[in-house]
Amino acid sequence: MADRVLDLLKSEISPSEYKKYISKLRFDEKNSTSDNVVFTAPNKLLTGWIRTKYADKIAHIYESLTGTKPTVNIEHRSFTGDVKKQVSQSTQPKSKTASTILNTSYTFENFVVGSSNQLAFGAAQSVATNPGQQYNPLFIYGGSGLGKTHLIQAIGNYAINQGATVIYTTSEQFLNDFLYNMRNHTMERFRKKYRECDFLLIDDIQFLSNKEQTQEEFFHTFNELHRLHKQIVLTSDKPPKKIAGFEERLTTRFEWGLMADVQPPGLETKISIIKKKCELDNIYLDDEVINYIAAHMEDNIREIESAIIYLNAHAQLLSKQITIDFAAEVMKDLIKERTVNITLDDIIRVIARELNIKPSDIKSRKRAQPIVEARRIGIYLAKTLTPENKMKDLAEFFGLKDHTAVSHAMRKINELLQTDEDFKVKVEELKSKITSTKGESL
Ligand code: ADP
Ligand code: MG
Repeated sequence: MADRVLDLLKSEISPSEYKKYISKLRFDEKNSTSDNVVFTAPNKLLTGWIRTKYADKIAHIYESLTGTKPTVNIEHRSFTGDVKKQVSQSTQPKSKTASTILNTSYTFENFVVGSSNQLAFGAAQSVATNPGQQYNPLFIYGGSGLGKTHLIQAIGNYAINQGATVIYTTSEQFLNDFLYNMRNHTMERFRKKYRECDFLLIDDIQFLSNKEQTQEEFFHTFNELHRLHKQIVLTSDKPPKKIAGFEERLTTRFEWGLMADVQPPGLETKISIIKKKCELDNIYLDDEVINYIAAHMEDNIREIESAIIYLNAHAQLLSKQITIDFAAEVMKDLIKERTVNITLDDIIRVIARELNIKPSDIKSRKRAQPIVEARRIGIYLAKTLTPENKMKDLAEFFGLKDHTAVSHAMRKINELLQTDEDFKVKVEELKSKITSTKGESL
């Protein structure tokens, strides 16, 4: 099966990519299960690069062949055996659907704390050391690449070291496991597995949206674990109330314990994270280059990490020093890709469509509340997504008197973003609609 998968991947990528990267992969049969597939790569650099670029693709190909999407782990060969730990410590024989292996580098020590993630970090440490007490469940939410998986797995790694029984799974794997056991009439086994652990960690719970049967089963699992004071930790891209397609009895339970969000990191935190990653991966970058990356890459830390790996790989292949010019040249495409020339008109078009307000009204001086709000959001997103526009350009475009009116709108909106969770979610959704529409049309 693994060979077939890599063969199919071959047809999807260029021959040189295949030769440079994929041909170096070896299937690790011993450590693979039906929902957790392990490949090894011969060095750290390749491992990181293949993981970032191809792991998802490989998982998709598996899914297209077997109907089940496994987690694909790419590991550096010397890692196998010693560092890796099997998560499930259940006394049962290891079932084919055994839980995922945690990434051992996702620890509290390796997590950089800043004001953007302080609450979530503190909460995660607290449940790891005091499970099933105050914060049950712990619900961590926030945008992509901001450290949710890292934190939930840090809880798992910590707990395993304390000898606890930990199940870490994505909600997709939970769903697949559920369906598998249903089909095979082995629900008893399923229930035993999920209800007899000290920690149940479910990543990306939002994927259970509209999966009623699985939600029903999860509801009972949740109740049982909660009753026994076993710790439950969930992550999601949105706060409970905002995830569509969930039964209310579940979302209210998600709010029983503590909800903690992870926000995009500020510049300082980004810089510290880059330094941390360089330290962990033995990559040397001077401060100037680090600042350049932090300033030019957006907030998704996963993308920042791949940029570092990409940069380092290029420097090694070309035997070059990583100077700021070299970095700027190599990262040109990455950065361009990130800010895909969003225009002010794109922003207005999406806001008008989503909030059902005429574009001409947004750009007028009308004072009706919904129009004022749409205009402010427009100004805010224009400021964030089109940094090339000056205050006075924005004033002109949005039909405002001058740049002070733009500053006023920015202040207002920043206030709202700080105080009104619903509003923040709305703005984030609009932002992602604008960037993704643009992505699709390219
Ligand atoms: P999410 O699950 O929120 O999409 P991840 O937890 O997968 O994001 O994070 C993406 C990458 O960024 C991971 O490799 C993680 O280690 C790293 N990362 C995110 N936040 C931090 C942080 N505060 N400190 C160190 N690394 C981080
Ligand atoms: Mg994640």
